[in-house]
Amino acid sequence: MGERAPGYAFAIHGGAGTILKANLSDKKEAAYLAKLAEALAAGEAVLAGGGTALDAVTSAITLMEDSPLFNAGKGAVFTAEGKNEMDASIMDGATLNAGAVSGVTNVRNPILLARAVMEQSRHVMLQGKGAETFAAEAGLEIVDPEYFHTERRWQQLQKAREQKTGAVLDHDLEFLDPEGPDGLDDHKFGTVGAVALDREGNLAAGTSTGGMTNKAWGRVGDSPIIGAGTYASNTSCAVSATGAGEYFIRATVARSICALMEYANLPLEVAADKIIMQQLVQMGGNGGIISLDRDGNIALVFNTEGMYRAAVKEGEEPVIGIYKE
Ligand code: ASP
Repeated sequence: MGERAPGYAFAIHGGAGTILKANLSDKKEAAYLAKLAEALAAGEAVLAGGGTALDAVTSAITLMEDSPLFNAGKGAVFTAEGKNEMDASIMDGATLNAGAVSGVTNVRNPILLARAVMEQSRHVMLQGKGAETFAAEAGLEIVDPEYFHTERRWQQLQKAREQKTGAVLDHDLEFLDPEGPDGLDDHKFGTVGAVALDREGNLAAGTSTGGMTNKAWGRVGDSPIIGAGTYASNTSCAVSATGAGEYFIRATVARSICALMEYANLPLEVAADKIIMQQLVQMGGNGGIISLDRDGNIALVFNTEGMYRAAVKEGEEPVIGIYKE
């Protein structure tokens, strides 16, 4: 007799950074917890209904993209030029198919575009105008770029400009926040991601982001880079990352964690720790990941003060967190 299937498992994140209890009002904290719970439940419902890991990932990410609380879709941060340019990617652990887009400005749900690239094109990654043309042809919802303009994000860019910070991780803006919990604290939004294991034993991962506030023209972070911000393989694990993309790209974070499992037989938690708490820390890279393996083990690891996160396994209570334990 084969081993009993582990059942489904699902995890999401809403970004990592300098997220301190002292900087988050009770109201804001409650709003984040509620949205994380809602997105987790949406993905879990797909899996509990016998749906695929890919569908669970897209349903939770779409929901977070539509919320201004997170730095993805509506709520995306502004570039140095005052625009919203979004990146997203998705990977199917069963087939190793993947889709990614970067620098899109008018597609309501970039994660759905990444999925369309994976399923309806011969390519893995499309960028800018070409990605937008493909989105329209694929029948995805196109919106006026104004749709992504939120006043709080705009103020966040002005702050970064004033203080000449260069590109800033949205959650690190607390450092720039002279107004406390109800001022710029409103800008503690984050990149979003999801990883799933379905009842068939298939893994999937996806990530969606507006990138970093005040990012330079054409800058692309790790989120749409397969192997850096997103990776999934049924032979090892599924990973979605959040943090300072320039470091995550150079450390090939998502693939490295899976490779440590695949080639060095390390357990998920140990592999994730090695990359996030050792290698990235040595390089000076802030951030974290959510990950799960085909046995349903879940690892949520971050080297920052906090990471918006939630996870659930079949038959168990969900776990939702913001700060370090
Ligand atoms: N990783 C994203 C980027 O560098 C930012 C984030 O995670 O918030 O574009």
